[in-house]
Amino acid sequence: MSETCDVVVVGGGPGGYAACLYGAAAGLKTMMVTVEAPGGTCLLRGCIPAKELLQTAEVYRQVRHAGEFGIRTEEPIIDWKAAVLRQGNVVDQLVGGLSSLLKKRKVEVIQGYGRVLSSGVVEVARPSGAVENVEADAVLLAAGSAPCTIPGFEIDGERIVTSDQALFFDELPQRIVVIGGGVIGCEFATTFVDLGVEVTLLEAMDTLIPGADPDIVQVLRRELRKRGVDIRLGATVSGHSVDASGATTVAFTHEEKQQTVEVDKVILAVGRKPATAPMRLPEAGITIDDRGFVEVDVQNMRTSREGVWAVGDCVPTPALAHIAYAEAMVAIRDILGEDPRPIDYTGVPWCVYTHPELAFVGLTEQQAKDAGHDVAVAKHRYAGVGRAMIIGETAGLVKIVSDRQTGVILGVHLCGPLATEQLLEGYLSVNWEATVGDLGSLIHPHPTFGEAIGEAAMTLMGRGLHG
Ligand code: NAD
Repeated sequence: MSETCDVVVVGGGPGGYAACLYGAAAGLKTMMVTVEAPGGTCLLRGCIPAKELLQTAEVYRQVRHAGEFGIRTEEPIIDWKAAVLRQGNVVDQLVGGLSSLLKKRKVEVIQGYGRVLSSGVVEVARPSGAVENVEADAVLLAAGSAPCTIPGFEIDGERIVTSDQALFFDELPQRIVVIGGGVIGCEFATTFVDLGVEVTLLEAMDTLIPGADPDIVQVLRRELRKRGVDIRLGATVSGHSVDASGATTVAFTHEEKQQTVEVDKVILAVGRKPATAPMRLPEAGITIDDRGFVEVDVQNMRTSREGVWAVGDCVPTPALAHIAYAEAMVAIRDILGEDPRPIDYTGVPWCVYTHPELAFVGLTEQQAKDAGHDVAVAKHRYAGVGRAMIIGETAGLVKIVSDRQTGVILGVHLCGPLATEQLLEGYLSVNWEATVGDLGSLIHPHPTFGEAIGEAAMTLMGRGLHG
């Protein structure tokens, strides 16, 4: 059987479904080829289930500290089955909602593994074993990514797991080690320590969340430590062994000493790689780099093969769902001949769902200096912010990086309560090239967390109100 449409999208994650929805909204006849339910890593085993579990941890932590607010409770008990059920319900609702939306927009969803054969032709291997071709004027690849592994740690889905499995344990473990202190590692460390699990975090580099501004990372590190996470920076893991009782011992070197830690689960969070290998893209004339990423022109998301576009985690841009959405819209606009506005990757928003949260956009202080700016920086801590005191979350700060000569805001870095929600103001400031005068002259409602951003901007104008 051969079917024809305007655009066939390979992959059902944020990049793929955004392309289908946006394309269909513009009148294109669109098809999605996906091996699993629409939603991809983000909905099925990433952002959504991870943040849902984090919320369970947050509620547990809050109830345990309810006494501070004059609310007496019994020691709370985690009903893991109920927690997992809620997580599943949230995921199911979102997947169901997405499927309905695709149907409403008349996007045809074809279940199977898609492989580009040539411009305009995608082969689909159905779960039944049948193979058929789908034809389209345009092909859009949104193949996504998969967790990386490291030598000495064979994934068995039981003791040694990736982020894919760590969200769906049958029982809450008592002791875990997280290998990798990047975004995923820190989010898992937060979730599990707040659920009362003993957590060891082993990171190869000398910082958590490499790439983020050290001032905000330092707060996160201190807060995680305070809550009991055993953080080892500059650690080299060498392997693991399992004893007769089933306990797993992980061996690592830290500060030149050989050490071990005994745990129930080992979670690998050492990065993600593009899920392109089985697609044999070079055979179809689509260039991939030495790590497997599809090479694209980021002005329009075109690949090396005419008529084929690629977006999301399978291209070498930040692996974030919101970037995949944005890339999908650029690709669809290019397919429509609309001359899309390319994404400025230097100004994308980063949101890390730890506790406290990290959120940042633009240049760090060091990056701004390296770029030759005469840098002016202001920091304002949440410790003096009324709203933060009210909710009892005063750890953290706002840091604004600006150019001293022009006043232009180059970067906004937050660590603190609901920082991911507050980032929008920083995002707009950086991307609209606002000056500290523009931002500092705006009224920041009282009492809100956002007052800290206003104070930092006013400080850079030369005179703070409270700072
Ligand atoms: P990452 O690249 O952010 O962090 C991986 C970390 O593991 C690094 O700090 C690295 O130094 C460390 N590492 C690598 N090998 C190691 C080893 N052998 N021993 C100890 N440490 C080791 O990758 P991630 O945290 O796995 O996330 C993958 C991708 O998913 C990222 O690109 C991220 O953008 C995306 N993601 C983002 C969010 C978010 O923005 N909230 C959430 C989840 C995932």
